[in-house]
Amino acid sequence: MDEYISIDQSEFQEDKYSRLRLIPWWDQAKLSGAAIMVVGAGAIGNELIKNLALLGVGRIYIFDMDSIESTNLTRSILFRMKDVGRNKAEVAAERAMEINPDIRAKAYVANIIDDVGLGFFRRMNVVLGGLDNREARLAINQSCYRVNRPWIDGAIEALSGFARVFVPGHGACYECTMTETDWKLINKRKSCALLTHQQMNEGKIPTTPTSSSVIAGIQVQEMLKLLHSDRNLPTLAGKGFVFNGLTHDSYVVEYPEKTDCMSHDIYEEIVDMPWSVSKTTIWEAAEKIREDLGESASVELDREIATYAACGCGEKKELFLPVHKLSAMELVCPRCGKQMNFESVHSFTGREPFADKTFGELGIPPLHIISGRKGMQIRHYEFTNDTQMVFEGMED
Ligand SMILES: [Zn+2]
Ligand SMILES: [Zn+2]
Repeated sequence: MDEYISIDQSEFQEDKYSRLRLIPWWDQAKLSGAAIMVVGAGAIGNELIKNLALLGVGRIYIFDMDSIESTNLTRSILFRMKDVGRNKAEVAAERAMEINPDIRAKAYVANIIDDVGLGFFRRMNVVLGGLDNREARLAINQSCYRVNRPWIDGAIEALSGFARVFVPGHGACYECTMTETDWKLINKRKSCALLTHQQMNEGKIPTTPTSSSVIAGIQVQEMLKLLHSDRNLPTLAGKGFVFNGLTHDSYVVEYPEKTDCMSHDIYEEIVDMPWSVSKTTIWEAAEKIREDLGESASVELDREIATYAACGCGEKKELFLPVHKLSAMELVCPRCGKQMNFESVHSFTGREPFADKTFGELGIPPLHIISGRKGMQIRHYEFTNDTQMVFEGMED
């Protein structure tokens, strides 16, 4: 009899997740074992992170470059007055672990467009966006597709907003939804290399803690369904949930998939390499890639690297950074003050005069994935030795 009672107790013991488990398809282990990336710790990001912490999502990786301002406090449950001036991601990570000590959260003060290796995305179950700009959304979209990971975008304005789910191979991606106006705005920003981060944040939109909690709530619910993919729950893949808080309308839109979309490139074969961007040189990678694919194989990057700048006056200088990060200031000739021209490259043979440079010296982020190509044959290689450094403190 005693034995019988003790079995019953262990079976029905209440813990803080027991009410969640009442949902028939719920598997708390899927949540505690999940790695979720949250990009942006603003109004939506705060609500996303709060929900993830409450639900017991095991690992939360939070990205934001900005600091907390007093104006954030009306829309950010995780921030207090005393946090003003501190980094948003760092405070959000601390508060998430306060809400639920079962979980771990780590802050990254990094630019999602340039500074996050594809291997990072590859290790996430789902990526959640709480962003305010198209360029970052497009970068996340391309990264997620390459390593075949779903991402969920959220956007709000005043009392309204929408949540969209993008799953590689299942309908439209973010780029498919982009209009001509979206592209114009992105290209306008790209052409203004001198814009500071502060200036880029201008054009602020009105946001509320109410619309952000509605939209972030939908985003996290969609994430839950994706984590329980074996339960065949209906998801919003390739679709958007639109919420108009003013008129109480809500509806689902299905986006047409563009057959010529540039973002649908999924890396078929990724090889884990004992490489690190701070140590591995172009020459070393080229050697390995030639060994794998043949003598005429080359190393390919997913970004253009500016190599040298030259001026009509004869002045020459080294650049070695992604073209995207190049500022007009760097192209001012130190000798005559005129604008210098520069060369750029995204493919290497390993025989370049600068082939002894490491990938880190080219501005390639840790845990990134590069490609080897020979004609139509292509294989992808990850800087896997960066894993420990990138995820420090989040290991089991
Ligand atoms: Zn697309
Ligand atoms: Zn000059």
